[in-house]
Amino acid sequence: MNKINKILIANRGEISLRVMRTAREMGIQTVAVYSEADRNSLHVRYADEAVCLGPPPSAQSYLLGDKIISLCKEMGVDAIHPGYGFLSENAGFAQKVSEAGLIFIGPSPQAIEIMGNKLAAKQAVSKYNIPMVPGTEEAITDIAEAKKTAAAIGYPILIKASAGGGGKGMRIVENEEEFEEQMQRAISEAVSAFGDGAVFIEKYITSPRHIEIQVLGDQHGNIVHLFERECSVQRRHQKVIEEAPSSVITEEKRNEMGQAAIAVAKACNYYGAGTVEFIVDENLDFYFLEMNTRLQVEHPVTEMITGKDLVMEQILIAEGKPLSFRQEDLHIHGHSVEVRVYAEDPRNNFLPDIGKLITYQRPQGPGIRVDDGFEENMDIPIYYDPMIAKLVTHAETRQSAIDRMVRAINDYRITGIETTLPFCKFVLKHDAFVKGDFDTKFVEKYFTPDMLDEAFSADELHILAAAGVFLSETNNPKSKQVESMEYKATTNWTKRLNNG
Ligand code: ADP
Repeated sequence: MNKINKILIANRGEISLRVMRTAREMGIQTVAVYSEADRNSLHVRYADEAVCLGPPPSAQSYLLGDKIISLCKEMGVDAIHPGYGFLSENAGFAQKVSEAGLIFIGPSPQAIEIMGNKLAAKQAVSKYNIPMVPGTEEAITDIAEAKKTAAAIGYPILIKASAGGGGKGMRIVENEEEFEEQMQRAISEAVSAFGDGAVFIEKYITSPRHIEIQVLGDQHGNIVHLFERECSVQRRHQKVIEEAPSSVITEEKRNEMGQAAIAVAKACNYYGAGTVEFIVDENLDFYFLEMNTRLQVEHPVTEMITGKDLVMEQILIAEGKPLSFRQEDLHIHGHSVEVRVYAEDPRNNFLPDIGKLITYQRPQGPGIRVDDGFEENMDIPIYYDPMIAKLVTHAETRQSAIDRMVRAINDYRITGIETTLPFCKFVLKHDAFVKGDFDTKFVEKYFTPDMLDEAFSADELHILAAAGVFLSETNNPKSKQVESMEYKATTNWTKRLNNG
């Protein structure tokens, strides 16, 4: 057993704060690292100690593994939490951390290495009878051969980068004529993003859902699963809204997928927190996609429904403690939804909208959790992922968790930049989402930017009109604001009627 007394969080923003909060509850000292762009960030102020790593670009700051390790030695740190992104899935870094006599809060370098490569991962789990999407087992080297395989599988197929992540290096091929061109594109994307051009073929599942299972394993061979997260609402293969549990998974299916996830984890002697991703077709048949060997962005929804603190579990596991609960001790309590709030303009093709947060007021109240790293008057730096916050709700039923989320979005006050909040609200209020009847094509199928303008009901229009008249008669300065809302609502309403 290695008691951890001081943790360095090799990350920034919301996840750095998230980890530090738990560390503090456990009586563990915290060290933040930051780049020059993050000098005034909340994670820097919250930590017991903080060190500047260098200039803003990640390669000159958050990715400086060796510098981070030597800082740990100087500062008496005994463990590193990598968060997600940056160094979190870098097997070489994890290896160096342990060679330096420090604890890496995560799985073994070997597990990271195997699961970081989609082909190696498929190979590792192949003896465990885990369902997999039909495709090639090795990287494409011979185009003629690959075309034959694609024809046998049947178009459309997907060309994927073995080293892929974040939806990069992935190309849909509709027919044989497009094959070579799309393959070259996938390869060049993979080389520039991951420095590894190995690509392979998978059958393209036309309307899948993305459902993943959270696992936790200790260093003594115990592994449990903490149920599923539904992450099907995506843009460009990137998750935007997540929830737990999934509205389509039955108890029996949950069990089956949970056991499959545990088998995947066993295939690489996994310990720590990890996520096994599956795609699920319309018959609820599921196929292994990949395993993420770190804490996921969307981990809070699992925490909300299980009552477990995943970061605390990660730390206890890293200390060498056995899991304090068994599978049968875990239960689902209620329902949780998370939306990712990005500094992007949903009316303008989701272009990043970087700037100053002139107003920034979080929603509050029962069952609401905001994981963020910003406050009013802070700038959103252009150097990193434009996620501002994760807004999470928890309630007894799915519908009440959705209603609570809509209320929380309405209460969230952000000015100075555009955010994806109106887009998230659009999804949450959409009939298909409410019914749970959706797949990864949701956004493509249903979303156009003009839908973001509030759809007021006829009753609401009458109320607005009456309020406008009342306020202007009493010379209330708010009358202008109401008038403009009414004008906007009426024009949109008319446009909608005209469009049938
Ligand atoms: P990455 O590591 O880049 O995130 P994944 O393999 O996890 O790549 O896939 C990301 C997303 O791409 C999935 O959630 C799903 O929406 C889509 N996807 C992946 N594989 C397939 C497939 N075979 N058929 C259809 N969609 C897929």
